[in-house]
Amino acid sequence: MSTEHIQVTPELFAYMRSVSLRETELRRALREETAELPDSQMQIMPEQGQFMALLLQLMKARRGLEVGTFTGYSALCFAEALPDDGLIVCCDVSAEYTAIAQRYWEKSGLRHKMDLRLAPALETLDQLLQDGQKASYDFCFLDADKENYSEYYEKALILLRPGGLLMADNVLWSGRVAGTSDDESASTSALKDFNQKLATDQRVALSMLPLADGLTLAIKK
Ligand code: CA
Repeated sequence: MSTEHIQVTPELFAYMRSVSLRETELRRALREETAELPDSQMQIMPEQGQFMALLLQLMKARRGLEVGTFTGYSALCFAEALPDDGLIVCCDVSAEYTAIAQRYWEKSGLRHKMDLRLAPALETLDQLLQDGQKASYDFCFLDADKENYSEYYEKALILLRPGGLLMADNVLWSGRVAGTSDDESASTSALKDFNQKLATDQRVALSMLPLADGLTLAIKK
């Protein structure tokens, strides 16, 4: 039995990228513009976007939720994977960052698949529930403030259809969730609670990947 992940050295990483990354010019431009921002670490890795888009293609997803849109890179990956009548409800509180997102979405010709809601995501998810949209979404990407992950998750589980996919980002939190860390920040503690809760949550099928900063996949039963 193999008990270790392969060590991804910089050389191996560059090789992986050279033989597998497929990124449009537009997405690369968005990634480069985002890299100049003070919160640039919030940008997902392009490999992660490509991987999640592949999952959406596999499940023939049409409607999704994104909790935490930032400058719109992940939504762009998702939109490319959805059919023309696909829709993503994009939740964010930053007018500044989502203005960048909208500029690139327009250029991509995929703006019609984006339903941007500038409000605290818990309010938007509650609104969707009030609008009778229970069990009507194929996927949810969770990537906003970590303190509210568990609450977002509970609401998203109601909004997802059976067989729907939840993808939660940053679940390894640069390693700070593991036992030896003395980091007691609210985000770290919330992520530890979130991971522990999902570990035994029988409402979902679960997998956690050490991809980028850690990605949990949970399928609603
Ligand atoms: Ca993230």
